[in-house]
Amino acid sequence: MAEDFFGELGKSISKATQQAVDKTSVFIERTKITAQISGEQKEIDKLYQRIGEIVYRKIRMGEMAEDSEISPIVRDIAARTNQVTNYKRNLADVRNMKICDNCGSVIAMDAAFCPKCGAPAPIAGGRGSKVNNSAITESAADADPKLQAGKEEMEE
Ligand SMILES: [Zn+2]
Repeated sequence: MAEDFFGELGKSISKATQQAVDKTSVFIERTKITAQISGEQKEIDKLYQRIGEIVYRKIRMGEMAEDSEISPIVRDIAARTNQVTNYKRNLADVRNMKICDNCGSVIAMDAAFCPKCGAPAPIAGGRGSKVNNSAITESAADADPKLQAGKEEMEE
């Protein structure tokens, strides 16, 4: 009788142990597959971003036709990119530096030429200090000749 009891107990312990092992291996397998899925998803997201960057550049360069769904997004990116430039100018102002109009490098306030690209530097206390923080709309693009050119291209 005692032998049967311990025999049955032993069986149920090994059954429980086997179930725990099964649960663990299922968990490990699930974790592995979940990581595989999120790895692929990250690569897909990167590829989508690459497509976005290519389409943005092509529309800005006039190499791709305007599109009613895409063009407003392109204009939004352009305006926000311009706003980033404005913020960089403000940041340079705070540091008593200025931004090269040609390459965007932060340069000394008294520099006459950009040490990086050699372009004539903007005059100290010039438009950098006159930037309007609230200008995130298309009027922001009016402050930047480069983006202004791009905007005209887009409007054609
Ligand atoms: Zn420069």
